[in-house]
Amino acid sequence: MTAVARLEKGDGNALDALDHLLAEELSIRETRRIKAALMMARLTTIKTLSGFDFTFQPSLDKGRVLALAELGFVERNEVVHLLGPPGTGKSHLAIALGVEAVKAGQSVYFATLADIVSSLAKAEREGTLRERLRFLARASLLIVDEIGYLPVIPGGGNLFFQLVNTRYERGAMILTSNRGFAEWGDVFGDPVVATALLDRLLHHAVVVQIEGSSYRLRQHADLVPEHVRSKAPINAPQPPPEKRRGRPPKTRSADQQSG
Ligand code: ADP
Ligand code: MG
Repeated sequence: MTAVARLEKGDGNALDALDHLLAEELSIRETRRIKAALMMARLTTIKTLSGFDFTFQPSLDKGRVLALAELGFVERNEVVHLLGPPGTGKSHLAIALGVEAVKAGQSVYFATLADIVSSLAKAEREGTLRERLRFLARASLLIVDEIGYLPVIPGGGNLFFQLVNTRYERGAMILTSNRGFAEWGDVFGDPVVATALLDRLLHHAVVVQIEGSSYRLRQHADLVPEHVRSKAPINAPQPPPEKRRGRPPKTRSADQQSG
């Protein structure tokens, strides 16, 4: 398989494949800069917009995604919300937009919400919260992946709020979530913090909702129970809280790495 094909297939750690992809259009120096910036951004699993099959997600407006790739939202310090059930390509699109931003010379930082919150909690314990907040506020684009898969640790909502407040109107963000905004009180374990977060995160915001089925499960549709396979709306009633705690749903394990 060629490097580009590997990359488009979404093959794990495909930074070396970037050499081939970028060599076509860029000088060696540019390629080196972009590779370094992707490492700095923690964008190690590379996904591209050209590797995204829009025909698989007809609810998603391709034109809207390509317009986002022009990065006006980064210039305007806006927030892009990518919402949808597991496997519908939220992380893929968030990473692909991050790669576009890196190529355009913007500073980017990618992390899951759980990683961000635990790094803030650690910094708080060590008395370095201010520095950590400043670090996370520095990138022109912060990508926060996987809001809603795991319940946020106690106090985590408050720490994330401090970060959002620090970045508010000063930097752009892309957030991905499998949960509707109405459920953020549950996700952050605190309705007051959730309301304050949403107040900032919906002010200058673009909401892209994907209402399709999982790309991960496309070849196994016949093995998957109907309630998982069906195009469950994002605000569908959730199982009782005790069942949502702990591990993410089992259906993700097929492709855990790239999620
Ligand atoms: P989510 O973050 O919504 O759970 P991901 O973006 O991680 O889903 O997608 C799961 C896997 O399927 C990834 O490997 C991703 O690259 C791939 N994928 C998802 N949607 C598409 C698509 N429409 N075209 C190509 N690959 C896709
Ligand atoms: Mg994901």
